[in-house]
Amino acid sequence: MKHSYRVSVDNDRCRRFGICADEAAQLFRLTPRGGLNYQRAVPADALEAAQAAVRSCPTLAISLEERR
Ligand code: SF4
Repeated sequence: MKHSYRVSVDNDRCRRFGICADEAAQLFRLTPRGGLNYQRAVPADALEAAQAAVRSCPTLAISLEERR
């Protein structure tokens, strides 16, 4: 069975450093007004980048969840 993954960001923890956007530009993007936009559904080819973003977030704001 194919698994899919979703990311979510805890807005209370996120400080908009943008490191996640450096690690996974496909999924995360800082907005010109200093917010963070992200795509919840993680395409298979972006999974490694999503995991790197989770590891690199200094405030541990990103979670990655497997959906069956
Ligand atoms: S790396 Fe973490 S704190 Fe920085 S913008 Fe991304 S989610 Fe927010």
